[in-house]
Amino acid sequence: MIDTAAHAAPFAPEHDSGAGYISSLPGEDALPGFPRRLCLLGSTGSIGKNALRVAEGRPERFTVAALAGATNLALLAEQAARFRPARLCVLTPSGVDALAGMLPAGYAPDIVHGPEGYASLAADADSDVVLSAIVGAAGLMPTLAAARAGKLVALANKESLVLAGDLIRQACRESGAVILPVDSEHNALFQALGGPGLRELPHVATLVLTASGGPFRDKPAAFLQTVTREQALNHPNWSMGPKISVDSATLMNKGLEVIEACRLFGLPPERVEVVVHPQSIVHSLARYHDGSLLAHLGPPDMRVAIAYCLGYPRRTPLDLPAVDLVALGSLTFEAPRHDDFPCLSLARHSLSLGAWGPVALNAANETAVELFLAGRIAFLDIPRLVDFALTTQAGVYADDLDAILEIDRTTRRRVRERAEGGAPRG
Ligand code: NAD
Ligand code: MG
Repeated sequence: MIDTAAHAAPFAPEHDSGAGYISSLPGEDALPGFPRRLCLLGSTGSIGKNALRVAEGRPERFTVAALAGATNLALLAEQAARFRPARLCVLTPSGVDALAGMLPAGYAPDIVHGPEGYASLAADADSDVVLSAIVGAAGLMPTLAAARAGKLVALANKESLVLAGDLIRQACRESGAVILPVDSEHNALFQALGGPGLRELPHVATLVLTASGGPFRDKPAAFLQTVTREQALNHPNWSMGPKISVDSATLMNKGLEVIEACRLFGLPPERVEVVVHPQSIVHSLARYHDGSLLAHLGPPDMRVAIAYCLGYPRRTPLDLPAVDLVALGSLTFEAPRHDDFPCLSLARHSLSLGAWGPVALNAANETAVELFLAGRIAFLDIPRLVDFALTTQAGVYADDLDAILEIDRTTRRRVRERAEGGAPRG
């Protein structure tokens, strides 16, 4: 098992270039005005539902132009009936008619389906802000489509940056698209640094990502051998979809977020630290060479980051309980347990392999998490299968989209075969 300590992570040459934020950040005058027309990809998921809660009751700020889900047609129909967007997208062709049949009389939106459908919604001229909140690698093509179409992109789908951060950066440069990070840690950094701070990124010593530590932060190593699906899905601070909940339990979520931070802020991995902060109140910090640490604090509720992105640069008031600092009493910080949760080190290691490494890491992890949620492998098989994917594949070219998608496909197949042939040992 690879166990690369955070500070010992080798410098990845791909980060030599591109220091600086992933997209331009124009002033408010150059951004879409209000009310903004929202395209919510993944509206039936945890992030999507929270985005609709933000939009609800604020028609002067937000209208809903398009909604996209996968297979939860009942929920999508309910959302569509409430917000009446002109366009909808579902995963399968059969879902189109089924969804149409669930909509109220007199409301007949355009319903499309499949990967082309999601990409067409993302690029549609009739929306201003695209929330990319599909889970996993399936979010890549719609994110790229939105970036190529020059949209204001509220980006929750961290996997698309892990797979193709450079392609998204290039698309933003060519189209003028603006990326706003929804992931709470990256959103915190974006807020703490502010516009001028983002232009001064070369002067930041390190970015410090906080991690809750997940549900097993203080469990003994032996406990991790017996973890069940239900235990892994039971996150102490955040309510999230199943895949990211398991990623939080293995610390792969923080590994993916290290890669996400490198891609967003154009910094090498040794300038991205991780510290465990069980209260999830400090969402991340930027450390400067003069000893200063700039932090963003807030309640552990994704509506804060979502609202900030949808309304950027204007804040949208939210009906959330204020953080009671006195009641909290203390905020604590500790080092991650790298030996017991190897996914964080595996993610750092993947960056040192070149562009293909994070692609293989992500594909192996998604496949392993699916197998774990289906009851087919044990919790600790997840890092074993990711390690297998990284150590048994020769380095390959992964600089264009076709190559990235090919590595994604072959890694998924290899990991599934490996798991079916008996879960790999140590
Ligand atoms: P979720 O599982 O709750 O929802 C996923 C959404 O994607 C659903 O609408 C689902 O219908 C759709 N979907 C699934 N497979 C699809 C496919 N193949 N094609 C098209 N649509 C598909 O997930 P979530 O927790 O809302 O997370 C969404 C994204 O946001 C992930 O990339 C996650 O890492 C990121 N994120 C989530 C949180 C959170 O608090 N939930 C925080 C930070 C980042
Ligand atoms: Mg996060």
